[in-house]
Amino acid sequence: MEDIRMDSHKLLYHPQRVADWLSGKQIYPIEMEVGLSGACNHRCIFCAVDYMEYKPKLLPKDIFLANLELMGKKGLKSIIYAGEGEPLTHPDAPEIIQRTKKYGIDAAMSTNGVLFTKEKAVDCMSALSWIRFSIAGATDETYEKIHQCRKGDLKRALQNMADVAMVKRQQKLSTTLGAQLLLLPENKSEIVQLARMVREMGFDYFTVKPFSQHPSSKAKITVDYSEAEEIGREVKEYETENFKIYFRSQSIDNLNMEKPYSDCEGLNFMTYMDAAGNLFPCIVFMGQDDFIYGNIHEQTFPEIWESERAKKIRAAFDCKFIHAHCRKNCRLDEINKYLHVLKNPGAHVNFI
Ligand code: SF4
Repeated sequence: MEDIRMDSHKLLYHPQRVADWLSGKQIYPIEMEVGLSGACNHRCIFCAVDYMEYKPKLLPKDIFLANLELMGKKGLKSIIYAGEGEPLTHPDAPEIIQRTKKYGIDAAMSTNGVLFTKEKAVDCMSALSWIRFSIAGATDETYEKIHQCRKGDLKRALQNMADVAMVKRQQKLSTTLGAQLLLLPENKSEIVQLARMVREMGFDYFTVKPFSQHPSSKAKITVDYSEAEEIGREVKEYETENFKIYFRSQSIDNLNMEKPYSDCEGLNFMTYMDAAGNLFPCIVFMGQDDFIYGNIHEQTFPEIWESERAKKIRAAFDCKFIHAHCRKNCRLDEINKYLHVLKNPGAHVNFI
């Protein structure tokens, strides 16, 4: 499997958009994360958006699809269906995913996998560039303790993951299949077992990620990562030519580092939409009315993105604000570091 730059970013593959931003032009985001549904069938103990309270809100299909076409025309390149709930609790998820691809936008999904039946996989997998399954344990006991779910959900998730891998093989699809475990004291002894299970299914990668505290989350967790290096070494042994292990050591190191940039310029390249149709700069501020750019029930996506309100909100993420309110190791960390260096070149840049 090709390297997917999990601990880095891919903005360097969009030089024209970056050049336009650097010269002060109005640009459109490259990526958007969309919450199809506010509801979730699990209550994971590490859930960053537990404060959104899993409201059974569904993104309105018709309004969203009308905007989707506009987004594609304006240069949006990808959508990750994830957000504040489980995307597959939206009954039209497969259709929305297919339409995304049809409008020229790459689609991906993050899911706990319990509702991703073989039928749903057949319906939408060909339109998905990648699928990431969130799975926090290899045994029923650990999985149910962390996911706070129905008995037997681990078995259901694993069966669906195996079926998805089979659909990929049968249909000769290029969809990248990954599983992600959030490293917690409860699951550290099951990581190797899970890596082996996922590899045997024919997945492309397994990733282990640290917990990072969301400022508004009710879940307050402190994790001691002193054993992380050893765990990383152990699990890395399960990597093969066709199966990558991404142990996010850099993300663990980042937890203890101050952000070395003074603005969140990455907000020009990425945005979030919740299941109510609100457009936000960042998942950390989801649910806070002051940070809503606008809503697709009232305005089109281009009207919202280009509005004075959206520009003002993006500009408010200055040094003081970021250091007081932002999350360590956030989604745009690496992108912000890159953009900061571009905007603030050091000496002798012509001696390449
Ligand atoms: S948490 Fe990160 S991505 Fe969100 S606004 Fe702050 S710096 Fe930007």
